[in-house]
Amino acid sequence: MSNIGSDIVLFNELVEILLSEEEKNPVADRIESNKLYDTIDLSLSSSEMIDDELKSVLKEILISTPKTATRLFFNQLFGGRQGKAVLGDLLAVLLNNSMYTYKVAGPQVGIEKEIIRQSCNMIGYGAQSDGTFPTGGSMSNYMALVMARDAKDPTCRSEGMSKPLVIYTSKESHYSNAKNASFCGIGRSHIRFIDADSKGCMIPEKLEEQIVQDIQDGYIPTYVNSTAGTTVLGAFDPIDKISDITEKYGVWLHVDGAYCGSVFFSDKYRHLLKGVERSNSFSYNAHKMLGTPLTCSVILVNDKKHLHDSFTNDADYLYQTDGDDFNLGKTSFQCGRRNDALKFWTLWKSVGTSGLNQIVDQQFDLADLARDYVRNHPDYTLYSFEDSISICFNYKNIDPAALCKALYEHQVTVVGFGSFREDRFIRLVTINANNEKQDILNFFKVLEDFAAKTPNLKRIEEKAQESF
Ligand SMILES: *Cc1c(COP(=O)(O)O)cnc(C)c1O
Repeated sequence: MSNIGSDIVLFNELVEILLSEEEKNPVADRIESNKLYDTIDLSLSSSEMIDDELKSVLKEILISTPKTATRLFFNQLFGGRQGKAVLGDLLAVLLNNSMYTYKVAGPQVGIEKEIIRQSCNMIGYGAQSDGTFPTGGSMSNYMALVMARDAKDPTCRSEGMSKPLVIYTSKESHYSNAKNASFCGIGRSHIRFIDADSKGCMIPEKLEEQIVQDIQDGYIPTYVNSTAGTTVLGAFDPIDKISDITEKYGVWLHVDGAYCGSVFFSDKYRHLLKGVERSNSFSYNAHKMLGTPLTCSVILVNDKKHLHDSFTNDADYLYQTDGDDFNLGKTSFQCGRRNDALKFWTLWKSVGTSGLNQIVDQQFDLADLARDYVRNHPDYTLYSFEDSISICFNYKNIDPAALCKALYEHQVTVVGFGSFREDRFIRLVTINANNEKQDILNFFKVLEDFAAKTPNLKRIEEKAQESF
C-alpha cells in the first residue's frame, strides 16, 4: 500500500502534465468509442501495477479525456475552472466528511448553512427558509416535486398515491421533470406541458387555462415548475405572473434555476428572477454559472417545514449528538453525502459576493458580443434573444448537427446543437467566465476557417430535400 505523501507527489506531477496539455491541445486527442478499449489499457486484473506504470496509464487517460476547462469548450452548460473552487474541492476530498451529522462534519456544517442562509436572504426568502445541497439540478427538481406532492396530499407519505395529482411545466423545461413525475408516483401522463412563447418563455395564460380545465375534470393541480434559464434558449419564465396563478389556485411553485438561477448574484441581471421570493422552492447549480467543479447544486425552500416533513426520518444509529439544526441529514435525500459546499464557499469567500457578481456579468458580456457578431455577419442566422448566455445560430446554411460533429471529430472546438420549434441550430454557451472577448471571436474564426476548408459539409436544404 502506498502512503498518501507519495500519491500527492504523483498527483502534482499529473496536474502539471494536464495543465500543459490543456495549453497545447485545448481540444483533447479524441479516441473513437469503438476503439477505446484497444487504445488505452483500461482493463482491471488480479496483478498489481507499480507507480511508474500507473503514472503512464493515467497520463494517457488525462491526455485523451475531453478538456472542459479550456477556451475551446462550449458544449455544455458548464465550463472553465475557478481556481479557488478547485482548491476547496481538493480539500473536501482529503477531508472526506459526510454531511449528515455535526459529529462527522463539524465546521463543514456551518459552511453549508452559511451558503444557504446568504442565498435565501439574497432571493428574498424569509426567516423560515432553509435548504440543502442535492446531487444536482435534476435531484433538486425531484426534491421540490416530492415536497409539493406531500404538501398537497400528506397521506401520500404513508399510504402511497391515491389522488389524481397533476403537475405543470413548460415545453422548453428540462427533461428531469418527466423522469421525476414517474419517480414520485405522479406519472408521466399527468404532466401538462404548457406552451412557450416565441422567445421560449412559459405563457402564463396557457398555464391558467390548463389549471382551470384540470380542476373541472377532477384533477388536483399540485406543482408548477418554472425555469430560470431554459436548457436550449436560456429563457426565463415570468415568475411574477406565474406566482399570481399558483397563489390563486394554491399550487406549489418551484423555480428551476439550475442553468441561470445564479443571476441573483448580479445587480444587473437579478431582475430576470423577479417574483422569485413568492416561490415555494428555488434551485441553482453553482457548477454551471459560478464555475465550481461538478456537482454543486443548492435547493432553497421558503418554509423549511416542508423539507423536514418530506425528508426526515429518525435513525438513532446516526443522530447521536447535537440538535437537528446541525444534523443536516435530517433534511437531505441521501444518507452519506459528499461535501459540495466547501468548494463553493472557498470561491465565495475569496472573491466575495461582488466577485460572483462579476463572474455572472462576464458571461452576459461575452454573450452580447457573440450575439452582435452573429447579427453583424450576413453568413449567420441568429435564433436567440437578449438576456441569454446561449447563443443559437447557423452558419451558411450548414447543417448544425453535421458541423458540430465535424468540429469535434477534427478537434477544432467542442460545441453542441439544439432545437426550438422547427429550427435546429448550433448553441454556443458563454458560461466559462475565464474566457475573454478574444476567445469568443476566436471561436467564430476557427469555425469559419474550418468551414472554408471543408466544402462538403451537409447543407440544411439538402436535409429538407432528403425528407421528401
Ligand atoms: C442542467 C439543468 C438541470 C439538471 O441539472 P443537473 O445538475 O445536470 O442534474 C435542470 N434544469 C435545467 C434548466 C438545467 O439546465
